[in-house]
Amino acid sequence: MAVGGALAAPETIGTYTIATLGSHSALQILRGARAEGFATLAICTEASEGIYRRYPFVDQILVLPSFPALVDRQDTLREANAILVPHGSFVAHLGVERNKQLQIPYFGNKHVLDWETNRNAQRHWLERAGLHMPREITSAQEIDCPVIVKLHGARGGSGYFFARDAAEFTARTAGMAAGSYTVQEALIGAPVYLHYFYSLLAERLEFLGADIRYETNVDSLGRLPSENQRGLPIDPSYVVVGNMPLGVRESMLHNVYHLGESVVAVSRMLCPPRGLFGAFCLEGIITPDEQFSVFEISARIVAGTNVALPSSPYADLYYGEPMSTGRRIARELRNAILTGRLAELVE
Ligand code: AMP
Ligand code: AMP
Repeated sequence: MAVGGALAAPETIGTYTIATLGSHSALQILRGARAEGFATLAICTEASEGIYRRYPFVDQILVLPSFPALVDRQDTLREANAILVPHGSFVAHLGVERNKQLQIPYFGNKHVLDWETNRNAQRHWLERAGLHMPREITSAQEIDCPVIVKLHGARGGSGYFFARDAAEFTARTAGMAAGSYTVQEALIGAPVYLHYFYSLLAERLEFLGADIRYETNVDSLGRLPSENQRGLPIDPSYVVVGNMPLGVRESMLHNVYHLGESVVAVSRMLCPPRGLFGAFCLEGIITPDEQFSVFEISARIVAGTNVALPSSPYADLYYGEPMSTGRRIARELRNAILTGRLAELVE
């Protein structure tokens, strides 16, 4: 594949294929790729293939016995002159090491994966950027507020529980191996997911939208009066069902941009020289004092952007034409190809 150097004509865009795993935000990514003139390919398992065959903008489907088998089946992608656009399933289903083993041009900076997937490294990054994070608690003696206990290896948002105070924490963690969980101050506020895009070509941070998640069972606990809940063995689960779009209070936008720009600036010191670019998401809770406390960063497109199809209020302010995050990624790749800068955006 020609990834650098010469300027390219718009007709050449169709000789490149944008490929992604068939799950998460693949429909949005491939729809956006088609809108920008690329060929498209979905990498599927037998279970997911049927979904992607339903949509006319998916040109090609590669069916694998499992997603990890991709590492041994990169030939098809190479023949298609593919560029891989990663999303949440790349880490969830392939793991960091397989992501690194992929030899196909991959949109984004793979070094960021190490910072993102290690809790301590992520905290170092975000705190260095000046972001407020929930306080990490290392012993029962420190507990002076309600806490959330996160079991290691908990996936998809289940495996967490709350403790009101040190006594409840001690009772509930009795018998659990120290080191098998982390403890944080529990924040009581509004969870918000902020969607960004940092353009390396334009050197510009764009705020493309926000969502809130619809999660089971936390989002249904409020439907039961607390006296009915008392005594029931219910721990909160954050298994996501879907997402809802959110318009952010306009006076908060200044801070929204500031947070995103700080995270990008620090990423350049941690993963030089490019740092974090493309789509990313800051996930946090806004407390009544209007503090945005971040509990996680996702360094690629998040599925919450699926609600902004074909566009979001904020993308509309920039573009005045439909621009989902998936399409924004394809637009960046297109601009890079046309200006001979693709090598800067892929790995
Ligand atoms: P999946 O391919 O659906 O198993 O999802 C891969 C990862 O992305 C999992 O960690 C999911 O929890 C997360 N995920 C999938 N869909 C959504 C969504 N709509 N909102 C937030 N996270 C999601
Ligand atoms: P995580 O696995 O860190 O993405 O967290 C899953 C869910 O737990 C988030 O969507 C939040 O709603 C909730 N959560 C995480 N950390 C905290 C915290 N410190 N306080 C309250 N809720 C939290």
